[in-house]
Amino acid sequence: MELEDVQRVAVLGAGNMGHGIAEVAALAGYDVVLRDINEEFVQNGYDQIEWSLGKLAEKDRLTEEEADAALDRIEPLVDLEAAVGDVDVVIEAVPEKMEIKREVYTDLESHAPDRTVFATNTSSLSITDLSEVTERPERFCGMHFFNPPIRMPLVEVIAGEHTDEATLSLIEALAEEMDKTPVRVHKDSPGFIVNRILVPLMNEAAWIVESGDADIETVDATTKYGLGLPMGAFELADQVGIDVGYHVLEYMHGELGDAYRPCPLLAEKVEAGELGKKTGVGFYEYENGGVNVPTDAVDEGVERRLLAVMANEVAGLIGNDVADADAIDRAVMLGGGFPDGPAKLADATGLDALVETLDELADATEEERYTVVPALREAAERGGFHGGDGPEDTDGDGFDYDTLTVTVSERVGHVQIDRPHRMNTISDELLDELSDAIDRLDADDDVRAVLLTGSGDRAFSAGADVQSMAAGGADPILAVELSRRGQQTFGKLEAMDKPVVAGIDGYCLGGGMELATCADLRVASERSELGQPEHNLGLLPGWGGTQRLARIVGEGRAKEIIFTADRYDAETMADYGFINEVVENDALADRAWELAADLAAGPPIAQRYTKRAMHAGRTDGEAGLAIEAQAFGHIMNTEDVMEGITAFMGDGDPDFKGK
Ligand code: NAD
Repeated sequence: MELEDVQRVAVLGAGNMGHGIAEVAALAGYDVVLRDINEEFVQNGYDQIEWSLGKLAEKDRLTEEEADAALDRIEPLVDLEAAVGDVDVVIEAVPEKMEIKREVYTDLESHAPDRTVFATNTSSLSITDLSEVTERPERFCGMHFFNPPIRMPLVEVIAGEHTDEATLSLIEALAEEMDKTPVRVHKDSPGFIVNRILVPLMNEAAWIVESGDADIETVDATTKYGLGLPMGAFELADQVGIDVGYHVLEYMHGELGDAYRPCPLLAEKVEAGELGKKTGVGFYEYENGGVNVPTDAVDEGVERRLLAVMANEVAGLIGNDVADADAIDRAVMLGGGFPDGPAKLADATGLDALVETLDELADATEEERYTVVPALREAAERGGFHGGDGPEDTDGDGFDYDTLTVTVSERVGHVQIDRPHRMNTISDELLDELSDAIDRLDADDDVRAVLLTGSGDRAFSAGADVQSMAAGGADPILAVELSRRGQQTFGKLEAMDKPVVAGIDGYCLGGGMELATCADLRVASERSELGQPEHNLGLLPGWGGTQRLARIVGEGRAKEIIFTADRYDAETMADYGFINEVVENDALADRAWELAADLAAGPPIAQRYTKRAMHAGRTDGEAGLAIEAQAFGHIMNTEDVMEGITAFMGDGDPDFKGK
C-alpha cells in the first residue's frame, strides 16, 4: 500500500495515547475511527480531543474551521467490526499487557481487511511476538508515539523480525504526514531507542544515590544543569511515574540481563505506592512545593558517571544494529528533549575518558552494567561516535550544522534555527555555529541577502537556552563572557554588508528577540508573540537588548517593552515600528522568502554603503553623513549605477552585479 492509498485509520484505545494519536491523524486529514471497549471510554477520548482542538484554536495554531473539520473526521465507535471493517491502517494503543494486546490482535485479524497494515504503539513489548499473533506479520510494525502525541514530534518506527520494507516506509510516510519526525528502529530491541537511553539513566541515577555517592538534589542538579537535560533524573522519574520506568526496567532486566537490574530504591518507591507526581509523593513531595533543583550543585563525578552509562547504551544500540549514532541523537533530542543527542554529548566529553570511568566502576563494584560494550571501545578508538564531524558543505549549496540549517539558493542565504525540540532556544553551540555561518555567508559572493527563521511553527526563538547556559553555574565572570559572546555574534549579523530579513513565526522572546533586532527587516505571522521577559527572572536583556531595541522603537517604547516584560502581539509590535509587516500565519514563510529574494536582487554596493552610513550615524551623525557623501561618490562610477539608470529608462528590471 502507498501513502496515497491510506484514507481511513482506526485507533484502538481512546486512553492517554489513543485519543492523542487520533487527533494528530484527523489533523493530517485522515478519516479516523476511535475505538474503545465501551461508550463511556470512547466518548471520554472524543471529549478530550474536542477540548484539545479547542485549545489549539484558542492559541491561533488552528482556525476554528480547521478544528471543527478535524473533529468531524473522527468517528467514535465501540463495535470492532464496524470500526475496522474498511480501514487501511490500524494504530493500536490499548493497555500495555501482552494478554490484552494478544486478544485485540486475534479479534482484529478476523475483522480487518487483508490489505490493512497494523501498527502498535507499545512502549516495550516485543513487536515480533505481537506480529506473530496475526496472519500478517510482514504488514505489522511498531509506531511509538510520545506523550502527548499532539506536542511531541518524535515517532519511533520499529521493524519486527518479519516486517517488510514497504510497511516501514508506509508508516514512516504516515508519521510525516501527521507532522511528526519518524526515526527508524531497525531491530525490535527492548526500550527501542529513547527508553533504552532514558530508563537506564534513571536507574543509574538511583544507583548513585543508593550507593551513597551523592544525594538526589546533586544528581538532579547535575542532570539538569550539567548535562542540560530538561529535568533532573528523579524529577523525570516522578513526572513519568516511577512505576512506569520501573516496569520497563524489569522488562529489560528479563530480556537483556543483569546490567539492567533495577535499583532497590526504585522498587521501594513502587512498593510504597510513592509513584511520583500522580500520587503526590515520589522522590519529591508535591504537596509541599514540589521540585526545587539547585543550580549550584552540579557534580563532575556524577556527570561523568551518567554520561558513561549513557554512552554504553548508545554503543549497545549501534553495536546491535538497532540504530546509528545520528538516529539515536535525533530520537533522544526529539523524544527526550535533550539539548544534544547522547552520542554527541559523550563525544564532547571524550569516549576514552568515559571508557576509563566505566572500567574503574566495573573494577570497584563488579556490577555488570559497567562492563564496557565492545562497540564503545571501537568508537573510542575511532575518536568518537561521530568521529570528528565538523560543518561541511554537504551538497555544494549548504552547510551542515547541528543547531542550524543553512542553505543558499536564488542568492538568499537562509539560516534556519533548528532546535524545534527546545523552541529554537539559543545555546552556546548555536552561538558558535551562528557566528561561523555569518562569516561564511558574508564571504560568499553568491549570497546577496540573508533570511533568518526558526524551524517549526512554534517559535522563531524563545530566547536563551537558560538551562544549558545555567550549566556554567552562577559564575559572574562566565556570565559576562556569555553576554559578550552573544552581543558580538548578534552584532556581526547586524553589521553584515548584506541585507538581513528575520521571518518570525511564533515566540520571539528574550535572546530570540535580541537576535531579531539585529536584522534589517522583520516580518512576522499574526500569531507571533514578542517580548523581553528578562526582568521577570530578575535578569536584564544581555545580548544587546538595552541598546539595539531603542534604536528601532525609540527609548520610550524600548523601556516599556523591557520594564513590563510583557508579551506583545505582532500587530502591536508593528505599531511600535519593530515589525515591518504582519502577514497571515500560513503566508509567513513565503512572504519572508520573497522579501529576502527582493533584497537579494537589489544593488549590493549601494546596500552595503547604506548600512554602513546608517550604522555609523547612530553614534555620530556627522560621521554618518561623511560616509554617505563618500559612498555616493564611489558609487557613481559603478556598473550597477549604469545598469540601474538604463533599466529605469527602459522600464525593465535591473540586473545588479555588485560591480
Ligand atoms: P490508557 O490506559 O490511558 O489507555 C488504554 C485504553 O485502551 C483504555 O481506554 C482502555 O479502555 C482501552 N482498551 C482496553 N482494551 C481495549 C480493546 N480491546 N480495544 C480498544 N481499547 C481497549 O493507556 P495509554 O497510556 O494510552 O497506553 C496505551 C499504549 O500506549 C500502551 O501500549 C503504552 O505502553 C503505550 N504508550 C504509552 C505512553 C504514555 O506515556 N502513556 C507513551 C508511549 C506509548
